[in-house]
Amino acid sequence: AVKEKNKNGFEFYTPEINKSLHRKMTIEKQLRMALENNEFKLNFQPQLNLRSKEISGVEALIRWNNNELGNVTPGEFISLAEETNLILPIGKWILREACLQNKKWQEQGLPPLKIAVNISMKQFNEHNFIESVSQILNETKLDPKYLELEITEGIAIMDHTFTIEKLHELKNLGVKISIDDFGTGYSSFGYLQKYPINILKIDKSFITGISNNKENAAIVKCILSLAQHLFLDVVAEGVETKADLDFLLQTTCKYAQGYYIGHPMSADTFERKFLSMK
Ligand code: C2E
Ligand code: MG
Ligand code: MG
Ligand code: MG
Repeated sequence: AVKEKNKNGFEFYTPEINKSLHRKMTIEKQLRMALENNEFKLNFQPQLNLRSKEISGVEALIRWNNNELGNVTPGEFISLAEETNLILPIGKWILREACLQNKKWQEQGLPPLKIAVNISMKQFNEHNFIESVSQILNETKLDPKYLELEITEGIAIMDHTFTIEKLHELKNLGVKISIDDFGTGYSSFGYLQKYPINILKIDKSFITGISNNKENAAIVKCILSLAQHLFLDVVAEGVETKADLDFLLQTTCKYAQGYYIGHPMSADTFERKFLSMK
């Protein structure tokens, strides 16, 4: 029972609703101070190049640990950060931190990796988004070709002319653009050929368990064929088992990401696990 009515017809909130409302309010309150209190960090999840069999990139994923709330997942706080516009300063911090870390790895002499950063719709639509990306690249001295911005189909589909313009400006900066969670959003493929996009990230719901799921296998093969004709690279998300990986190895899919390859991990753990092997 979510919202219930008593016999007089008045609505009242059940204890569970009260609790989740309270948590939401606490999250919002704590979120306002989290950045200045240094409560965020980035984790990095490796991406495997299925042809060279090498780790060729990472996705940066935000983590939040708060004294009062403990660990709060992005699923719990990103949408709230968007509603409150706090995603703007937080998003800038994420982008800078990701570029800094990637530059640091390169300066340590490690093989260059591409770093993928999730960009929220609010952040993308901010009037000075291009300037802040450009400024962060200058500041951190990261070569733009090692930065990939993940946007969602929701952004891509907006038929504002400024969306296309913005994507072209990003392309001119030299950064890569990927469509995250591909296949879960809109069924219009028109934007794929109109927009300067480089990569499709197939949503994990199509990939996890793919070797036992004929329908998902058909969908993924279709996406791979589409991508090939449009000269787009493909990352498969949600590779959880050897069977998932083996399936993808027999296709044209170029990159894979998922728990079987590696969980999101701290920068230190990532260095130890993946980069010391080289
Ligand atoms: P996403 O961008 O699609 O990121 C992938 C999510 O799938 C991550 O969850 C990751 O931990 C999880 N994942 C990776 N491999 C597997 C797997 O094999 N199986 C399963 N079941 N899951 C896997 P996470 O970190 O909880 O993030 C959830 C979502 O929150 C992200 O989805 C993204 O939309 C958003 N998010 C996370 N970090 C950021 C960020 O820094 N900025 C923004 N704007 N959004 C973020
Ligand atoms: Mg992502
Ligand atoms: Mg995402
Ligand atoms: Mg995704």
